[in-house]
Amino acid sequence: MGETIFSKIIEREIPADIVYENDLVMAFRDINPQGPVHILIVPKEEIPTVKEIDGKKHAELLGAMFDAANEIAEKEGIAKEGFRLVFNCCDKGGQEVYHLHMHLIGGRQMMWPPG
Ligand code: AMP
Repeated sequence: MGETIFSKIIEREIPADIVYENDLVMAFRDINPQGPVHILIVPKEEIPTVKEIDGKKHAELLGAMFDAANEIAEKEGIAKEGFRLVFNCCDKGGQEVYHLHMHLIGGRQMMWPPG
């Protein structure tokens, strides 16, 4: 298995500031936050990158990730003002950890284009 640091967090082998969990996903604060709120929403299933997503097979999981994002944004008080959701994919996409994750970033004005 391509075990990453996120698998170890999910298995509770290493600590993280976990803010949300259910059968399908776990969410925890990013160790190097890019805004006042920066949370990683991670499927428990090991999927390395966006490229391995199958829309039909992973529909429930993807829905659970977006439900988590909305629920967490509400809890963090940034739902009304808005926030950014990001998936980095592979080298040029800036992906560092090869276990699928969605960044939820908010609490400041986001800029476009991204760096
Ligand atoms: P990406 O570049 O999209 O793969 O994002 C990986 C993210 O994981 C980065 O924003 C890192 O700061 C974050 N990260 C790496 N290790 C940890 C950790 N142990 N706990 C929380 N966040 C982490």
